[in-house]
Amino acid sequence: MSVLATPTIELKELKKQTLVVILLGPPGAGKGTQAKILQKTLDVPHISTGDLLRSNIKEDTSLGSKAKEFMDAGKLVPDDLILDMLFSRVTKKDCTHGYILDGFPRTLDQAKAYHARLNEETKTVALNLELHDQVIIKRLSSRMVCSGCSAPFHRQYSPSKKEGVCDHCHSPLIQRSDDKEEVIKKRLTVYHTQTAPLITYYSKNQRFKGVSCDQSIDQVLEEILEYLKSLYSKDS
Ligand SMILES: [Zn+2]
Repeated sequence: MSVLATPTIELKELKKQTLVVILLGPPGAGKGTQAKILQKTLDVPHISTGDLLRSNIKEDTSLGSKAKEFMDAGKLVPDDLILDMLFSRVTKKDCTHGYILDGFPRTLDQAKAYHARLNEETKTVALNLELHDQVIIKRLSSRMVCSGCSAPFHRQYSPSKKEGVCDHCHSPLIQRSDDKEEVIKKRLTVYHTQTAPLITYYSKNQRFKGVSCDQSIDQVLEEILEYLKSLYSKDS
């Protein structure tokens, strides 16, 4: 049975509390994919700090214009500002029962600052989506994109009918510079340096689980849902 068909009703019990699911994991592990499915299954919003930053800038909010000043000056947007945006979003009504946090925290400092601002009723669970670097490199470096219509392909998972040619517009397929092996390796080095202390921080917490992503999307999801359900039964 596909777990994608898991009735949301079984998870309704979880929603008696505010539960934040923090997704950690390297680029290419499938965080975005799981976040989207979990959003539907748990019926809580998926909050990506990258998207929040972009929408605040686009809508020219006071926080957005402050962030833009830093970016225009070639500086990183300070953690405090990101947290202000995050909390102005998650205090909205649709986050009453929780939300899925993706792309944040990335560093130990961010995690500490985030948890310091959470109210006591909010429970968090951190899921570390794990995948070996070699598998990530293979996955990401097999991604291709159409040079004409930007349609995504994957040499292994969703190959084009004719190699190197787009199914839709017949333009040549290219590799994005982000997906080149050397670039992926650099991103992973940065990821491991920043995130190792974060994983240590969360693993000391009771609500932490590592999930291997070297299995199908359905299997990863099933493992996550089983864990979330087990947390609830422990609490009740
Ligand atoms: Zn195309």
